[in-house]
Amino acid sequence: MAGVGETDRTMRVLVTGAAGFIGSHLCERLLKDGHSVWGVDNFDDFYDPAIKRRNISISLGHTQMHLVEGDVRDSVLLDGLFGSIPFDLVVHLAARPGVRPSIREPGLCYDVNVTGTLRLLEAMRRHRVSRFVFASSSSVYGDDAALPFAEDRPACNPLSPYAASKRSGELMCHSWHKSWGLSVYCLRLFSVYGPRQRPDLAISGFVALLREGKPLPVHGGPATGRDYTHVDDVVEGICRSAANLRVLPANAPVFRILNVGHGRTVHTTELAETLGGVLGVRARMSRRPERVGDVPVTLADTTLLEKELGYRPRVELSDGLIRYVEWLNEVESIDPAAVPVGSS
Ligand code: NAD
Repeated sequence: MAGVGETDRTMRVLVTGAAGFIGSHLCERLLKDGHSVWGVDNFDDFYDPAIKRRNISISLGHTQMHLVEGDVRDSVLLDGLFGSIPFDLVVHLAARPGVRPSIREPGLCYDVNVTGTLRLLEAMRRHRVSRFVFASSSSVYGDDAALPFAEDRPACNPLSPYAASKRSGELMCHSWHKSWGLSVYCLRLFSVYGPRQRPDLAISGFVALLREGKPLPVHGGPATGRDYTHVDDVVEGICRSAANLRVLPANAPVFRILNVGHGRTVHTTELAETLGGVLGVRARMSRRPERVGDVPVTLADTTLLEKELGYRPRVELSDGLIRYVEWLNEVESIDPAAVPVGSS
């Protein structure tokens, strides 16, 4: 197969966390675009691994999809993989995600998110793979940034171990860029939602409670809200980053940090009411105190994203929630036991 810079525009892409929510959508898109994909995933128990196996099953039917079950912290595994495949690009999504879980298990969060990223960067350095997309998070802004969050903010007040682990990942990427010429796009993803979303995410929990007719716990004051971004818009951002990296001359490495967010704060009451409307039930809310580690409000400044990647996320929340609920209903009709809704 032709590599980067040759007439064939396809790439050999390593996707870590391939069986997860975002990873499984990304694999499908990369395959559709003609690329060859190697997915690494350890099917950890952060949520039911059976959900992840279902996520990746569509891609596994494709001849250019290769799944490696293993851990990104395993240098021997990575050396074997990088030694046998000349990857053009690595997209690093594998992580112990989520603010609340990181407060319960900070050590595990650091081990997977920081040591895992270190092992991957080291394998890339040893095997001279120079294009990297890193999944960072809006949580790195903490509560010190003025709204909207712009990429030139210092982002040095993380509120949770998860946020600190993602900022650490960005900083490691920067040092590998400076020391060894790695070209990197760090994408700060803002509250991603859509089909296959993780059971621990707020929307998943709200759906379960709305269906049971229970009130929704709304943490924080009326201003609490998130910039919700549909998974299709996130996958578009990753693919555009990959395309930019592909055409870079080898002697001009880049380092970019970009917000990938929709650019609108949805307050929790609006989220609850919109979701209630989609499900055809009235949303009742019960106010709760703000939780340790949570950023009260997020909002992406998308100016740099538009300039650098030539697009801005488009899927409106109401449309995105309709698609999500349609997908849930479809999954339930096939296998009611496998519905990935959780508790908030
Ligand atoms: P996910 O949990 O669905 O996917 C992560 C995948 O990584 C899982 O399939 C898991 O099994 C795998 N994994 C975990 N540890 C691993 C390890 N040590 N080795 C190999 N595989 C491992 O999560 P997601 O929501 O798809 O998130 C993907 C990435 O995007 C993560 O890095 C996350 O921090 C980041 N992110 C997500 C959101 C969001 O709202 N979903 C927001 C900001 C950033």
